[in-house]
Amino acid sequence: MQRDNQQKTFSFELFPPKTERGQENLQKAVGELRAKQPAFFSVTYGAGGSTRQRTFDTVEWLIEEQITTAPHLSCIGASRDEILEILAHYKAIGIRRLVALRGDLPSGTGMGELSDLGHANQLVELIQERYPQQFHIEVAAYPEFHPQASSAQQDLNYFKLKVAAGADSAITQYFYNADAYFRFLDSCQQLQIDIPIVPGIMPITNFTQLARFSDACGAEIPRWLRKRLEGFGEDLEAIRSYGAEIVIRLCERLLEGGAPGLHFYTMNQAKPTLDIWHALSL
Ligand code: FAD
Repeated sequence: MQRDNQQKTFSFELFPPKTERGQENLQKAVGELRAKQPAFFSVTYGAGGSTRQRTFDTVEWLIEEQITTAPHLSCIGASRDEILEILAHYKAIGIRRLVALRGDLPSGTGMGELSDLGHANQLVELIQERYPQQFHIEVAAYPEFHPQASSAQQDLNYFKLKVAAGADSAITQYFYNADAYFRFLDSCQQLQIDIPIVPGIMPITNFTQLARFSDACGAEIPRWLRKRLEGFGEDLEAIRSYGAEIVIRLCERLLEGGAPGLHFYTMNQAKPTLDIWHALSL
């Protein structure tokens, strides 16, 4: 397993902190995680550009630290000019990898009218039109399907559109059902989608937070897992230890089954990700 894993892409996702304390946490986490020499760190971009400046600040700090960085960029709620301005900025500071997304609008803002690009495939097209082959473009994939998808097949067809527009690889929404991922890969293969599709891994540290996230983004916590985690009540140590066991087993299955890497949703904390990393002997 060790040798195979050297060919795979491992990456860590961060979010831009809001406070000084948050900034200290981020720096501490990055300090510990960078020792693992991931392919890149990615930095999220808040709905409708709500973290625009903070995302820039975090990206620029990472670049100063000479860390390979992939900013996320979402197009909904933004004009074409604004997107082009951001792309020019990233090009100028040496970014070579982007996570291109549609994003979601902050609820109740009515920002939809501001969008020139309605879906991620249009953002990928725009990036490739302006900067042909100059960025490695990651897009999002949903092994359990996007919550707004009218059908599984339609979601796959739209995923294919993003790949046809020039996406180089994909990162999935997190999931705890390895079979959903392998089925998704089979369907992609049938559609001649041949880019690497890297599973997104969410460590389990806090059930309430995980349940809230999962409800918001449509990621499924299987009933048996939800019940087990609920059963631990406020015992965070028990949740972490059981959660780590489940996620380590999931990662083992994914890697053994041929996943081309793992992308960890670190939530700006090193330990939960490192516990999994060490258990996998990556
Ligand atoms: P799309 O690929 O555009 O798909 C969205 C929906 O529209 C799907 O139901 C799809 O079937 C459908 N669709 C796609 N193309 C078309 C089309 N051409 N015509 C009609 N329908 C279409 N959100 C953030 O706000 N900030 C982040 O930093 C962020 N990072 C993320 C990272 C990863 C790895 C993942 C998996 C998700 C991330 N998200 C982020 C969440 C993401 O923005 C949401 O899931 C959003 O609802 C969809 O974005 P998308 O790029 O997948 O959209």
